[in-house]
Amino acid sequence: VFQLSVPLNFLGSVYRELRQSLLDMETLFNLQKVNVAIKEPKDAKSLCLTGGEIRFENVTFGYRPDRPILRNLSVVIPAGKKVAIVGPSGCGKSTILRLLFRFYDVQEGRILIDGQDIRDVSLDSLRKAIGVVPQDTPLFNNTIEHNIRYGNMEASAAEVRAAARRAHIHDSIQNFPDGYNTMVGERGMMISGGEKQRLAVSRLILKDPPLLFFDEATSALDTHTEQALLAHINSILKEKKRTSVFVAHRLRTIYDSDVIIVLQAGQVAERGTHDQLVDRAGLYSELWSAQETLFDGGDPETSYPSKPQE
Ligand code: ATP
Repeated sequence: VFQLSVPLNFLGSVYRELRQSLLDMETLFNLQKVNVAIKEPKDAKSLCLTGGEIRFENVTFGYRPDRPILRNLSVVIPAGKKVAIVGPSGCGKSTILRLLFRFYDVQEGRILIDGQDIRDVSLDSLRKAIGVVPQDTPLFNNTIEHNIRYGNMEASAAEVRAAARRAHIHDSIQNFPDGYNTMVGERGMMISGGEKQRLAVSRLILKDPPLLFFDEATSALDTHTEQALLAHINSILKEKKRTSVFVAHRLRTIYDSDVIIVLQAGQVAERGTHDQLVDRAGLYSELWSAQETLFDGGDPETSYPSKPQE
């Protein structure tokens, strides 16, 4: 019995290791949403970023070709600007981000980054250039430190902590049972939606990509933390002159964007700054008034100052 138990224990640990790496692979694959239909050309060149301008030219796309989500969409996201994409639920805002990552290819038209069709460059260089804070951040079954370092595997412990500080999550981590060594993910400590979002922001700060996307990235935070984090993100974007795209429902989080693009039925319905769009009295101004009314009578925890502050 004794002789047998040793190899069995050994097998048990191999099994656990194997299961752990399979879970990690699963998370990674979900993260990258590997799509075998996406092919890169032989000897694809690396994406060459100059300023970070993104251009959709006559793009038509549907998850099913007979059900287009984006219809002949043409839109320019200027280099170095903060751009927001808003519009009714299901109009294709997150789809725009998925297309930029090349999780799918467009059916018609093309997407250019600094003049290069994204189908002509290597997937690796494309995805390295883009950082995203998604609606729900997948976690690896590993330590909190590993989960942040995923943004840049070469980062030192000090850099990981600096990024966590900038994302306003360092203090929370220090209160976790084992600090930065606390295990998270399915088999570790459960962390809240707001903590996950701040973790995703710290990953992004470590990755420091030229193009940044925020998909409802602060929706799980309380107003105070959200405001503080957004102010911090804004200062990083300004300082580094990064192109950023915010997908948002709550207009209070994006009214200060350089450009706001309003999508409707797969096309650009309106485009301008907050003030221009409010004056225009169209869809944006309707959405803004509806949310203002909601916030004015709303829960103090979720309401914002009644006027945007410059
Ligand atoms: P929301 O504001 O609710 O997040 P959105 O504007 O970001 O919505 P998308 O997520 O881009 O909308 O989805 C656009 C449409 O495409 C929706 O009708 C959605 O149901 C559909 N859709 C999204 N992902 C897929 C998919 N993988 N397969 C099929 N249809 C999908």
